[in-house]
Amino acid sequence: MSRSQGDKFILTKELGRLAKWLRILGYDASFYRQDNVSTLIITALREERIILTRNLRISRFPGPKIVIVKSDFVNKQIKQVIRQLKLKPRPKDMFRRCVICNVELKEIAKTRIKSKVPEYVYKTQKDFTNCPRCKKVYWQGTHWGNAKKYLGKI
Ligand SMILES: [Zn+2]
Repeated sequence: MSRSQGDKFILTKELGRLAKWLRILGYDASFYRQDNVSTLIITALREERIILTRNLRISRFPGPKIVIVKSDFVNKQIKQVIRQLKLKPRPKDMFRRCVICNVELKEIAKTRIKSKVPEYVYKTQKDFTNCPRCKKVYWQGTHWGNAKKYLGKI
């Protein structure tokens, strides 16, 4: 099974930071960059995605499930979405998706990424993953650690 969570989302362009956080939490969160609302609606229906937006105009469209995100602040946005949709992020699904591409990360042998990470990271970390699309390398170090702290606060 490639899908780690049941709920899938499509976010309109003003919610880029929220999209990244949903990916960190393990959700399939795609990002809609255009202005064409009907294409957004069609995509959401076809891919069975919940629309997250700050655009009130979109909420008038019948069909897909739409959540109007109220706050401008990403921490409040995360809270609202989790509460309103009764999401239960599971720790084992977190940090398994590229925050840029929304693609599931693959484990990669340590020897293969030696040239791509700082030396101290290479020496102190054991497990690495990378994104099959953009090739970015991830590890359980500082950025995941900070993200965990941040989510703990929320
Ligand atoms: Zn990527």
